[in-house]
Amino acid sequence: MRGQSFLDDVNNQFDEAARFLPMQEGLAEKIKVCNATYVTRFGVRLRGRMETFVGWRAVHSSHWTPAKGGIRYSPLADQEEVEALAALMTYKCALMGLPFGGSKGALRIDPAKWERQELERITRRFTQELARHNFFGPSQNVPAPDMGTNETTMVWMADEYRRWSPNDINALACVTGKPLSAGGIEGRIEATGRGTQYALREFFRHENDLARTELSPSLAGKRLIVQGLGNVGYHAAKFLSEQDGCRVVGVIERDGAVWSDESLPIEDLKLHLIKTGGVKGFANVEFVENGASVLERACDILIPAALERVIHAGNAPRLRAKLVVEAANGPTTFEADKILGDRGIIVLPDLYVNAGGVVVSYFEWVKNLTHIPFGLMERRHHEASHQILARSLEAMTGAKFPLETATLFLEGAREIDLVRSGLDDIMRSAYGQIRTVWNSAAGLPDLRTSAYSIAISRCAEAYAATGI
Ligand code: NAD
Repeated sequence: MRGQSFLDDVNNQFDEAARFLPMQEGLAEKIKVCNATYVTRFGVRLRGRMETFVGWRAVHSSHWTPAKGGIRYSPLADQEEVEALAALMTYKCALMGLPFGGSKGALRIDPAKWERQELERITRRFTQELARHNFFGPSQNVPAPDMGTNETTMVWMADEYRRWSPNDINALACVTGKPLSAGGIEGRIEATGRGTQYALREFFRHENDLARTELSPSLAGKRLIVQGLGNVGYHAAKFLSEQDGCRVVGVIERDGAVWSDESLPIEDLKLHLIKTGGVKGFANVEFVENGASVLERACDILIPAALERVIHAGNAPRLRAKLVVEAANGPTTFEADKILGDRGIIVLPDLYVNAGGVVVSYFEWVKNLTHIPFGLMERRHHEASHQILARSLEAMTGAKFPLETATLFLEGAREIDLVRSGLDDIMRSAYGQIRTVWNSAAGLPDLRTSAYSIAISRCAEAYAATGI
């Protein structure tokens, strides 16, 4: 067993789960390895000189097409990281029952160092490279935002692809995470944070599972520490504090951490972060220079939502959370995972917790392919039938339909309602499957191994079905 890199972590975890599965000789290795990685080095003339960039797009598996996975802009990106993230995408999509293979891409760049129009030129050039080599397109490979990229990046990519393939009527489906005005879907930006909320709610619905954490039965009042107040961390912290009564006591960012024994005001803190680039200087809270040390403070639930490998053998013995909810990809090393397991700290694993992004991306992709918004045909029809039902009830009982439920009941579902409902359903059902394996007599040690085993079985079934 090795343990030096993120890719080792993912592969070690794969081996751990595969041990529990009867599989034909050699198949596990086939599922585990990355199918292909395209490396591109391209030049863009910027600020009067030629700048060379390096980028990757890894297709871990294409047993289902298109292969799906985000594109990350980071100065620290490298091929191994991209391949580890692509593997996670394969397992995540298989676990959630989505018809996608797994992919991931990255460009080694610090987006903060470039102007908007420079980033646009770089992104368009990167897109051309990927499209020319068949690592991009609605039926082959569909990126989405990840760290350092956002919906604007996706619009540039979609637009570039459309120029590249003017006859492709499905060109818009070449990326997900687009803004609504450019073919996106309601609820995509919040999706991963929303999915994190749904994952946590579902875990709390299962008394026996919750009992293993020694946490009391309600989310209300639970003390949370969140690492990273970016897209995922911000939405998770916002929804869990505003809608479930959680208290976010600690937020860890690049420049340090802030702490409040009561609860941090997430909206104000996010505004401060956007304005100043950090959490330092936020009024009326404790500032901790060594942000990572706050991971070890006492809390009920720790939500890493920034980087990989932040919980490692060095700090895992000192963590004081009862439950770790992995909103980031790969935040816990393989070694640390075992330490947490031995200490009775339950980990809700990344491939389940943060799947909300790709689930809603799936809805967006389907919307683009069908060329019709969700709910368009049914909404008024449902509204009219609900009206008839309500009026009939009123006529039969002589009572007025209660005002407080009338709006909710009478209105037909909007796209956002359908997206949230679909996401909630997929999150609940996936947890149900994971916990069934976890609590079975097979003796799988934890939720992560259980989730991997489901994902691997599904990949094996897909290969068996196609005879590959
Ligand atoms: P983001 O770039 O929007 O946010 C990341 C946040 O982490 C930023 O606020 C950044 O300042 C902070 N950060 C960076 N380095 C840090 C450090 N050393 N300590 C503390 N904070 C630090 O990225 P995101 O989209 O929110 O992604 C976060 C994680 O979630 C990544 O692991 C990503 O792969 C994963 N993820 C994202 C999505 C998605 O839909 N965006 C989906 C699935 C998984």
